[in-house]
Amino acid sequence: MKYFLFLNHPKGEEVYKVSEERENLLKEHFKRVDVIMTEVEVRGERYRALVDYSAFSNLGNFDCFNCQDPCCADNPTIYEKHTREFVLDNLKEYNGLTRNVDILLELGHELEDVITSIENDFGMVPDENVEEEVSLCTCSYKPNNKSTLCSLHSLCLNKALDVKDIVDIKPLVCSLWPIDIVIDEKEELLYITVPDDFTTGFTIEDYYDTVCVNRELSQSASFRRKNPDGFEFKDYKPLIINYGETLKYSLGEKFYNDVKKILLEKELVFIDEFEEKEEQILKKINIE
Ligand code: SF4
Ligand code: SF4
Repeated sequence: MKYFLFLNHPKGEEVYKVSEERENLLKEHFKRVDVIMTEVEVRGERYRALVDYSAFSNLGNFDCFNCQDPCCADNPTIYEKHTREFVLDNLKEYNGLTRNVDILLELGHELEDVITSIENDFGMVPDENVEEEVSLCTCSYKPNNKSTLCSLHSLCLNKALDVKDIVDIKPLVCSLWPIDIVIDEKEELLYITVPDDFTTGFTIEDYYDTVCVNRELSQSASFRRKNPDGFEFKDYKPLIINYGETLKYSLGEKFYNDVKKILLEKELVFIDEFEEKEEQILKKINIE
């Protein structure tokens, strides 16, 4: 089995391979919980998927503008061709946010080499500068001295692109983080869940460190020491609502509709909750 969203990780198998122990824990979990079988469509490919659906009624709050956790600390994927083209088409604005072109020029590279690197290098900068002079993930930027944001996402918002375009341009692993998808290639089946108390033995992300899906953590003194603002209790909403459009465009309408339907039937979410939603993916930072 493999962590599906990490199949393109620059470190390869070291990151995406699921250990035997974790495989067993995953299988036990999926036997124990209620699941639905559905179909997902990812980047034009269709897969059968077993979904731990109640996990999508878990509460989430992607309050990234107030977050000091370095979840964009490293490059989680080898960038797709269309992402590289987007960067090149918006190079001036991308450099305005990230300073990546300026950094490489300062280091003595020619503009031509910078462009070749965006086209070819796994991290869109020469390998020796990845997470060094170009600190954190190549595409991250700091709008102020507090938050770290995604330049790809911000460029899309500045160009008034919609959720579908944002999801197409950003790496899939980033749009869906911290949702966990494991592929069993023998069975041609995806297992889909979310880190929580019950899944933490086998998911790639640790629920206890992941504030966006752990409301209790947001109230802890150690978290508040680093992040005094934001992450209000009331802003945590079921993931099917907070993440609705992202799920629809990342995993397909059938996945979204099937999960929403069963959650409503089981009264794990209620229809009026969907009317109040404000998609966090479309929020813009207010820089004073
Ligand atoms: S840890 Fe969660 S809230 Fe914080 S920046 Fe990352 S996605 Fe946003
Ligand atoms: S969200 Fe953007 S900045 Fe963060 S890891 Fe992904 S590509 Fe990099």
